[in-house]
Amino acid sequence: GMPTAPAPVLAPRRPTRRIQVGKVAVGGGAPISVQSMTTTKTTDINGTLQQIAELTASGCDIVRVAVPSQDDADVLHIIAKKSQIPVIADIHFQPKYVFAAIDAGCAAVRVNPGNIRQFDDKVGEIAKAAADAGVSLRIGVNAGSLDKRLLAKHGGPTPDALVESALWEASLFEEHGFRDFKISVKHNDPIVMVQAYRKLSAECEYPLHLGVTEAGPAFQGTIKSSTAFGILLAEGIGDTIRVSLSAPPVEEVKVGNKILESLNLRPRKLEIVSCPSCGRAQVDVYTLAEQVTEGLEGLTVPLRVAVMGCVVNGPGEAREADLGVASGNGKGQIFVKGEVIKTVPEDEIVATLIAEANRIAAEMEHT
Ligand code: SF4
Repeated sequence: GMPTAPAPVLAPRRPTRRIQVGKVAVGGGAPISVQSMTTTKTTDINGTLQQIAELTASGCDIVRVAVPSQDDADVLHIIAKKSQIPVIADIHFQPKYVFAAIDAGCAAVRVNPGNIRQFDDKVGEIAKAAADAGVSLRIGVNAGSLDKRLLAKHGGPTPDALVESALWEASLFEEHGFRDFKISVKHNDPIVMVQAYRKLSAECEYPLHLGVTEAGPAFQGTIKSSTAFGILLAEGIGDTIRVSLSAPPVEEVKVGNKILESLNLRPRKLEIVSCPSCGRAQVDVYTLAEQVTEGLEGLTVPLRVAVMGCVVNGPGEAREADLGVASGNGKGQIFVKGEVIKTVPEDEIVATLIAEANRIAAEMEHT
């Protein structure tokens, strides 16, 4: 019979409105962006800018900074100006900080319109100021900050409650003709979070900011975010992502990038293909893989580097990679594109791989 094309792994991306977060487009088919949030005091201008520079270097597209006080609002113009990537000001209660952030040149503001309307109905003024300045917003809810009325109505922070709350917030801006926002409906349970985003995606065309909130320390948080984002991204849902970890924000960006790279939603960069090790291993594969990963961290070209513990299965895998090592008898056979180019003593494996990787990377950059 006729050969059938294999089913695509990822569904086509859901059509969403496109907004701009400064120079970064979100939604409407734009590449999925990776976000993080600084952990410094925003008033510590140098510390904050230093962290933003580290985030930028690790592949962060958009950064958010907290604005809990007037002192924080006062330094936003410096941070927005000096940051290499768009800055989102994170504001919960005080409309005056929203106006300050817009005036300061922030690319976007994360607002809680429910709170703003409840305490000081300035939603219309915010919509106008944002529209005039070309600033977009993020709205939406966390399970932890859900309106009491909706909690009571739904019996808890259920997917329906999260979506109802988010769409109500959206309607507050829609009343003023403002639609340049993205929405999040975060929950700490990946299953509830997936259900909420599916429902939200079915009910609106706004770009969606994916997040599992309070995901936990690096190990647990990485897994929670990866599983939840993997499900949603495979269904075409999600326009920008933030991995929340109780860990340095650079770690969040690395995980976010790796999730997108794993799904081919972002070009792959360095990929370490290391074996799990087994009784045949003649070298400490864990340490070797870690040292190679560390040594190659700055590489920006797509390179598959294989680190194999023995010469039984090692050479086969190493041949598939751009560069690799198979260890045995206190030595390492170094492979480049399937050919053994040299054999080095064990204590020179890491340095040799790093030197070869840099040489290949330089060649790739020049072609
Ligand atoms: Fe074991 Fe060798 Fe395979 Fe590593 S490459 S898992 S050491 S057989």
